[in-house]
Parts: sequence; structure tokens; C-alpha cells
Amino acid sequence: MTVKTTVTPTARLVEVFSAIQGEGLNVGTRQIFVRFALCDLRCHFCDSSHTWNAPETCRIERSPGLRDFEIHPNPVPLPILLEWVQLQNLPCLHDSISLTGGEPLLHTPFLTEFLPQVRSLTGLPVYLETGGHRPDQLTQILPYLDSVGMDFKLHSVSGENRWQEHEKFLKLCHLARVEVFIKIIVSKNTDLAELERAAQLVAAVNPIIAVYLQPVTPLAVSEQFSEMPVLAPTPEQVLNWQALMKQYIKNVRVVPQTHKMLNQL
Ligand code: SF4
Repeated sequence: MTVKTTVTPTARLVEVFSAIQGEGLNVGTRQIFVRFALCDLRCHFCDSSHTWNAPETCRIERSPGLRDFEIHPNPVPLPILLEWVQLQNLPCLHDSISLTGGEPLLHTPFLTEFLPQVRSLTGLPVYLETGGHRPDQLTQILPYLDSVGMDFKLHSVSGENRWQEHEKFLKLCHLARVEVFIKIIVSKNTDLAELERAAQLVAAVNPIIAVYLQPVTPLAVSEQFSEMPVLAPTPEQVLNWQALMKQYIKNVRVVPQTHKMLNQL
């Protein structure tokens, strides 16, 4: 006789909280953030290096925006995470749920079960924030996503080189008609040729896809890679880069991390 067992999916989390989105296309909107642990990249400018490994515990905001965190053990069972998200979901408050990290796509088996349930429970759109380098995992959750903010990692700034993965990833989003934008962190060291390559890649998929050039926030940069400080670009550099990219694509916007200006999480 075969005994059927059902195992409750679990996820390793860093935190769940409510905040104003500070980057990209959704800047200024209110989101429920679900921050997943683990990342397989090591960007020099990373401001979330505390997510690289799975912590023993995660923190959960009880009241949206009040930072009244409770500490809970990891990993977190799916029904508990649903409860926490619903606790945040006050009427009319949030515009969407943000899956962030770390790299949320390292949790794809969990997300394939969690996303359809959280969508039907809250009625909120789901936004994925990702390094844009795991197209195979993206395919598995694309049907449950409303928008995607993907990075293009320039080697001259991040130390990562993921052009093929980025191209495949962008094409998948575009073909699935999921709203997608690209975020490129730029620093004083940004290589002009890499930006031009990025613009050409986007133009070949669809020249109206928005690209956000995000000047690096130097503050947290040297903590992990003190031997390689990442400095903010000059205004002249940014003006020059935007002009270059606009020769290929229509929407090139320069937006720094606004949540840091608000002293927000
Ligand atoms: S992908 Fe994001 S979380 Fe991972 S190292 Fe890069 S900046 Fe940090």
C-alpha cells in the first residue's frame, strides 16, 4: 500500500513588512514586502548582504508601517506566511506585494504554491524584484506575476557577468506580457560599452521597455568589498549615459534609491 504524505512547503525569510517602494517603476507605491533569504550573486554594491545566508530567525511587522517586529524561527510554513501577509493587508492601503531578497527565485518550489494562494487571499498584484539571472526558475512562476523589476548586472560595477541570462529572462517576461522594467546600478566605474550593449539588448526585445539607471548609494558599499570602493557617478557621467542609451531606447530614467532619502527600511 502506498502511503501518501503531504508536506507543508516552507521558506527561509528575512522579514515581512509594509513600506514605500523606493526604486524603479513602482517608486512611491505602498507595498507589502516579503524579503527572502539567500542570494547566489555577490554584487560589489549590495546593500542587502545580510540576506546572503539564511538566518535562524526572521522578523515580522505586526502593524503595517509601525516597525513593531516580532521574531519567529526559520523556516516559515506557507500557511503562516499567508497569515502574516494578510495581517498587513489593511483595506485600501497597499498597491501590491513585493517579492524581494536576496534572490526570491531561489525559492521557486515554494513560490509556485504560495503565489496563487496569496493572490486569491489578498487580491493584490504581485511584483518580483530579481537579479534577472534565473530564467528557468522565472518560467515556473511567470503565470502568477503582474510585474517584474529585473537587474542588468554590469561587470564594471557589480563584478557579475550575466548577459545571456539577462537576455533570456527579459524575453520571457516580454513574451508573457508581464510588465517588466530593467534596473542598472551605475557608479563612477561604469563602462560605457556595457551600457551601450544593455541598450542594444533591450532595443532588440522592445525599445519601449523602461530602463532605470540607479546611481549607486555609496554608503553601504565598502562593507563587503572594502578593497573595491564603489563611488557614485558624477552628474556629467549620468547625463552622458542617459543620452547614449536614448539613441536606442525610449524610456531611460535616472532615479536614485528614494527610500534611503526617507530614512526608510
Ligand atoms: S543580486 Fe541583489 S541581493 Fe544578490 S548580491 Fe546582488 S544586490 Fe545583493
